Amino acid sequence: MPIHTVTVRVPAKVNLQLSVGPRGNDGYHQLVTVFQAISIFDEVTLTKSTDGSGTTISISGDQRHGVPADETNLAMQAAEILSKKYDFNIDAHMEIKKSIPVAGGMAGGSADAAAAIMAIDYLYSLNMTRDQMIEVAAELGSDVPFMLNGGTAIGQGHGDQLTSALSRGTYHWVLALSSLGLSTPAVYGECDRLRAGSEISEPQISDSLMQALLSADSKNVGKLLVNDLQPAACSLRPALRLILDVGQEYGALGAIVSGSGPTVAFLVADEDQGLDLAVALTSSGVVGSVARAYGPVHGAKII
Ligand code: ATP
Repeated sequence: MPIHTVTVRVPAKVNLQLSVGPRGNDGYHQLVTVFQAISIFDEVTLTKSTDGSGTTISISGDQRHGVPADETNLAMQAAEILSKKYDFNIDAHMEIKKSIPVAGGMAGGSADAAAAIMAIDYLYSLNMTRDQMIEVAAELGSDVPFMLNGGTAIGQGHGDQLTSALSRGTYHWVLALSSLGLSTPAVYGECDRLRAGSEISEPQISDSLMQALLSADSKNVGKLLVNDLQPAACSLRPALRLILDVGQEYGALGAIVSGSGPTVAFLVADEDQGLDLAVALTSSGVVGSVARAYGPVHGAKII
């Protein structure tokens, strides 16, 4: 019997390292980043329709607010690119069940785009190779290729040239979420403003972080977390500094603004410490809400 529906589950990410080089002539910055996929998942369900209504979309889930239910949604843009590239009509309904915070620096939109590529490939038997999927993903955004692979990976260029990183062990995270997102371009703009006049060197991968990941040394991973966008995110949202302080007071192994923020990610020793920190953050009154997660996890996957 022909398949008429598929669901793809896709994780969020945190950046363990985000080093931002000088802005290139194309307006983009050279990046070196280390991604880790973590256990907060969106689900994208694609169901064929028979009424010739084209591709339609609806959004559900507790993080649905602020997600566009139209052709500007990154998952819809993935459908548009694939339909043109492979010259076929996608008469299907796409439902995105959002659990990844929106505009939180956790690449939720990119995750949905990656899931949409996988769902369309499966439902329409495109038989795309992994490299072909990655190529389409890179057209949609620099975080999208990673969301197909998941795990732990180094991203270079604009973050889209991926190599997998050797990482051992499981890392436990507490995430301080904010109900109000930060715009990624605004954070890069603020980063440029804060660094104006300073000499910015080419970003380099942190060998000590690679070593700590290889030896499952979460204490050192915590110390080595680094994000060049953090001062800019904190400048635009000063309350982030308070949140970072609360986490450190409660003994987190490390604390970092995730990507362009405003999510703050705390690395903790184990689930128990995660629970204690989650309670402390909630009762501190400086955090919108708190989530717990672990990583690394798989990238987009049919379920
Ligand atoms: P990144 O970490 O990749 O910079 P982010 O996690 O900060 O991204 P997203 O959640 O991807 O941000 O959303 C950024 C904006 O993209 C949203 O404000 C929304 O308008 C738009 N958007 C488009 N498609 C989606 C989607 N599927 N899910 C969430 N936001 C989307």
